[in-house]
Amino acid sequence: MPKNYNEAKSVLEDAIAKIDPVEAKADLHDNLNLLKANLVNVCNWLDRNVPREYRLRSVSGVLEKQLEVYNRQSAGKPVVLSALEAREGIYEQARTLHQLRAFPVVNSIVVRNFASDVISACESGRFLAALPSLRAFIERASLLNTLVREVSPIVSGVDTKKPLAISALHKVGEVVARALYSTRVNWSSLLEKDPKDINKKDLKFDPIAGAIDLTAETILNQIDKLGNAVPGIRVAYEVLCEFAHPNYGDLIFATSTYEEGESDWCGMRVRTRIIGLRVGEIELPIEYTIVFGKVLKVCAELSQQFISDHRALAKATAAAEQMVRSYMRSAIKRNRDAFRKSDRCPCGSEKYVGSCCGRLLSGFAR
Ligand SMILES: [Zn+2]
Repeated sequence: MPKNYNEAKSVLEDAIAKIDPVEAKADLHDNLNLLKANLVNVCNWLDRNVPREYRLRSVSGVLEKQLEVYNRQSAGKPVVLSALEAREGIYEQARTLHQLRAFPVVNSIVVRNFASDVISACESGRFLAALPSLRAFIERASLLNTLVREVSPIVSGVDTKKPLAISALHKVGEVVARALYSTRVNWSSLLEKDPKDINKKDLKFDPIAGAIDLTAETILNQIDKLGNAVPGIRVAYEVLCEFAHPNYGDLIFATSTYEEGESDWCGMRVRTRIIGLRVGEIELPIEYTIVFGKVLKVCAELSQQFISDHRALAKATAAAEQMVRSYMRSAIKRNRDAFRKSDRCPCGSEKYVGSCCGRLLSGFAR
């Protein structure tokens, strides 16, 4: 650690003196092009592999009650449900799968938007405009990575026979619900009140007692975990934050050039910063050219991880789908009175129950 300001300054100056400006600029452009190419690749991959539309069906929530019923059943206590309650519960249990299918669609729509922002901002030389979107891309990628890390182990080793499946389904349901619905804001006070009348406490999201806690987690923890797969991503994120917030980054971007003055008689050099509008060419101070080159490279690597996480999620979703279908078959069988042949199947296939998970059963109510 440098002992004082002058020492720190000379350490930085020595580091800057070692930089070859031409090479640094070329590096930045190479990494920018690599990032652009990778983001185009991400968008194309999403176009080919993730549907642009998904019909997310929801039913009123009784999952908690269903789990309680399951717990009582496994403790050997008899539970009698009405046909309607059982039916509602089965649709509810299948909801997890609907949400698991919805997640990549939501994620890909948002990421497509941010990625195309980054690409067009870079192409038109509005480099600063690209950075907040790039930062948002890291956040989305880390959420996807969290979901994969949490869901995959639950669904991979699971025996698809009913009792285990329903508790695993419940666990998956919690994780996906947090990924899709978590928030820091109390939306009902936003709807009911004028912003001028909303205090800090009203604005804060209030978890509902007895339900899944949907308070959004701090994104930094997720980014740190993503760092195991993409080393350096937290550092890249912090640098991007420096430019997304009105921090020192603003001054750097508002600086068009530096002028180096002569040293005076006592060895003092004067560096003048010219602040003003520039044409849209990336003309960063040399030390930031180096830093940005590194940040863009890490982000380019992230786009590869993003695709492989989408693949892993698709695999986990397929496993969950198998689990749900197997559960649906036995649940519908046990509660066939609650279904009519012409009902849509709870598994979300959009087929009729009689030609989907209930197809081997006869004697549905008409
Ligand atoms: Zn079905």
